[in-house]
Amino acid sequence: MTLPKFDYAEPKSLRQASALLRQQRGKAMLIAGGTDLLQALKNRLKTPALLVDLKNIPRLDHISYSEKTGLQIGAMVSLRQLANSAVIKEKYPMLVEAALAVGTAQLQAMGTVGGNLCQDSLCQFRDRSPMARLMLEPCLKLGGHVCHAVSGSNKCWANYSGDLAPALLALHARVTIADSTEKKKIPLSKLYSDDGKRPTRLRAGQILTVIHVPPPAPHSGSAYLKLRLRKTIDYALLGVALYLSMEDGDAVCKDIALALTGVGKAPFLVKEAEQLKGKQVGDAEIAQVAEAAFKQAHPLSNIGGLTPAYRKEMVRVYVRKAFGVALESAGQDA
Ligand SMILES: Cc1cc2nc3c(=O)[nH]c(=O)nc-3n(C[C@H](O)[C@H](O)[C@H](O)COP(=O)(O)OP(=O)(O)OC[C@H]3O[C@@H](n4cnc5c(N)ncnc54)[C@H](O)[C@@H]3O)c2cc1C
Repeated sequence: MTLPKFDYAEPKSLRQASALLRQQRGKAMLIAGGTDLLQALKNRLKTPALLVDLKNIPRLDHISYSEKTGLQIGAMVSLRQLANSAVIKEKYPMLVEAALAVGTAQLQAMGTVGGNLCQDSLCQFRDRSPMARLMLEPCLKLGGHVCHAVSGSNKCWANYSGDLAPALLALHARVTIADSTEKKKIPLSKLYSDDGKRPTRLRAGQILTVIHVPPPAPHSGSAYLKLRLRKTIDYALLGVALYLSMEDGDAVCKDIALALTGVGKAPFLVKEAEQLKGKQVGDAEIAQVAEAAFKQAHPLSNIGGLTPAYRKEMVRVYVRKAFGVALESAGQDA
């Protein structure tokens, strides 16, 4: 498949990049590693007039850590760079697990953290060659009026399948969004729209620049577990990320966050998990959280591989497993 024609710009500052995006309102797109975007271009799913490359903008590929403020990851840090970082390996092993779960080694070398968070959602009724798409009426994500995944729905149900988002959500991450006039820091959960048509709430000219993660608490543990058919290349059919910290010496939970990916229009936090704060974490409590996660998950048949019913059933199983791993890494008996 060949790429369509487009203009290409390599701005040297965020201000320039944002200005280019705004001038071309809707007709320009950012490109980082290109691993998600270029396949969409080849399939003519997107036809931007201009690609604005972020690679020449200084300081976007830095990782820094301080005990006081925690971790800062530039949006252009590659997944491989993240997975090889000594401080991330030591303090945030779940991020390494999630980065190494993405696609293949080649995709991890090229793909960036910002691109991973802002990747498009997937739907097998849309993500096909132009020829194969001729068999179906254009769907909502392609500017049409139907959803082939949920017949009769006026919402697009394309599935969000990114691996880093759940891990960062569970770690209470915030992101900096910049445009040509201002920078603002928002919780990562606010980045996502819960609309398969446009998975992020970013407007024309807005660029995700930095991801901020608070320092891990003492006696904390985490787990990222991904369901897929093959051990490589496959997107998540379900991803479960759990972070928790415990009181010193007993099984009382101080902090907890559970997030899921691959089973809905956006990655999401399971709020019921927070009810475990200040409580002993036993089998009954874990089962309750697993049940809440099960209820919130909406896997559909628009992603190939395993049936929606099986993926939904696996939510309970993976949440229980994640508790076992996270409690053990926090120094508790699982
Ligand atoms: C075969 C295959 C398998 C894959 N498997 C997985 C997988 O298992 N898990 C997974 O998570 N991903 C997977 N991916 C998707 C992709 O490779 C990764 O998500 C990668 O991290 C995307 O990063 P990128 O830098 O290449 O993004 P790009 O392709 O450059 O950009 C992706 C999107 O994000 C936008 N964007 C990029 N950077 C920014 C920014 N800083 N601010 C605002 N918008 C931005 C772009 O405009 C574009 O819309 C797979 C891709 C392929 C082709």
